[in-house]
Amino acid sequence: MINLPAFSVCVYCGSRSGVSPAYAQVAQEVGQWIGHHQGQLVYGGGNNGLMGLVAQATADSGGSVVGIIPKALQSKENTRTACTELHVVDTMHERKHMMAERSDVFLALPGGIGTFEELFEVWTWRQLGYHDKPIGLMNTEGYYDGLLEFTANSVAQGFLSGWQLDLIRVDSDPRALLRELVQAAGFVPKAKLESL
Ligand code: AMP
Repeated sequence: MINLPAFSVCVYCGSRSGVSPAYAQVAQEVGQWIGHHQGQLVYGGGNNGLMGLVAQATADSGGSVVGIIPKALQSKENTRTACTELHVVDTMHERKHMMAERSDVFLALPGGIGTFEELFEVWTWRQLGYHDKPIGLMNTEGYYDGLLEFTANSVAQGFLSGWQLDLIRVDSDPRALLRELVQAAGFVPKAKLESL
């Protein structure tokens, strides 16, 4: 019998691990939570940095891993060939489109310019009504405080409305944030172990 994943989480995160060990820790906790709740990770398909860690932790915890990587980035991003599904696509646009299509919720962890761009893209798509999937921002050790201050200033300066900011759920607790996102998407996450 084939077990279909209970829900699908698209994770955007750094292709590096960052300075604080808390970033690696949160990537692992996210993967573990997805796996323990029989979920599916959709991500960029690489083995580097937090991307590799979240994929490994999901797989180790019994979740399925869908990796989507553009042809040209296969060696640069150190493709994870051990994905449950690995899709090698022609362009970055195709990758991002497929990642969005295959997911029920989006979650950005600490990361660099690639992560920012992916977060902003699904955020803008959401405000324009192209999708209505929940979006989360993992503010581990205040990594995104500067971005949140910046966007609050954009509201103060009249370029953004409060409702647009409210489209993103911000938390530093991976389990609480994942639960909130998955529930907002209409799923009831059931852990294999009650403690999770
Ligand atoms: P980073 O956060 O910069 O470490 O990148 C994380 C992931 O985002 C990598 O897999 C990048 O390939 C990916 N990414 C997605 N869109 C872009 C983009 N427009 N520019 C750079 N990286 C991107």
